[in-house]
Amino acid sequence: MNLILLGGPGAGKGTQAKKLIEKYGIPQISTGDILRAAVKEGTELGLKAKAYMDKGELVPDELVIGIIEERLKQPDCQKGYMLDGFPRTVVQADALDQVLRNMGSKIDHVISIDVDKEELVKRLTGRRTCRQCGAMYHIMFNPPKKEGACDKCDGELYQRDDDNEETVRSRLEVYEKQTFPLIQYYKDKGLLRTIDGIGSIDEIFNRITKILEG
Ligand code: ADP
Ligand code: AMP
Repeated sequence: MNLILLGGPGAGKGTQAKKLIEKYGIPQISTGDILRAAVKEGTELGLKAKAYMDKGELVPDELVIGIIEERLKQPDCQKGYMLDGFPRTVVQADALDQVLRNMGSKIDHVISIDVDKEELVKRLTGRRTCRQCGAMYHIMFNPPKKEGACDKCDGELYQRDDDNEETVRSRLEVYEKQTFPLIQYYKDKGLLRTIDGIGSIDEIFNRITKILEG
């Protein structure tokens, strides 16, 4: 099962990916997570990526394509994977197609989670993430039991640097200009399934599993 989760920033890709890992045991490949880890460790990749991420712009295609090419070769991807936050441009989608063709593999499903812009702003500005285990919360829509602490591991919850309203607005513009065209791209390939991303986290999860198992 090789999946792409498409959708604007804040649509719920990461939240659903965590539930899909539990159900299907396939890894989530999030270029955003990989880049944030590189920034934190101060690697060469992190140093190159940081300025773009801080402004809410996309990191250059060749950097993220390199990351994905490496990651897809890892043995845990053999039974399937979910791509979350990649591809984000047509250049990336074409490169992915080429990489997979060289590996004798292909994408099975592209699921686009549809959420309107103002809801995305609310979701992103209220998002909190656990520093320790990466679990996601929302201060209003999915609050932790104890303020500032993760329900699962009691780790500290933090707000991402790029989840402030100004950077969120730039990220949404970038999404509309550079990533939205991928919806037509995958429609043309006959792979796209769009789901309504408004509803409870469990409702959205049911919509996704219905597609995967249908
Ligand atoms: P993405 O990975 O697409 O950027 P996330 O999964 O991190 O998005 O979700 C963004 C924010 O929205 C998080 O704070 C998350 O808790 C919240 N969220 C996720 N799904 C829903 C939902 N169905 N309804 C309301 N809030 C949600
Ligand atoms: P995300 O965690 O998916 O919201 O991504 C956070 C930031 O990482 C984005 O705003 C971009 O700067 C960068 N990023 C993540 N994935 C990609 C990608 N596929 N292409 C370019 N930049 C990316």
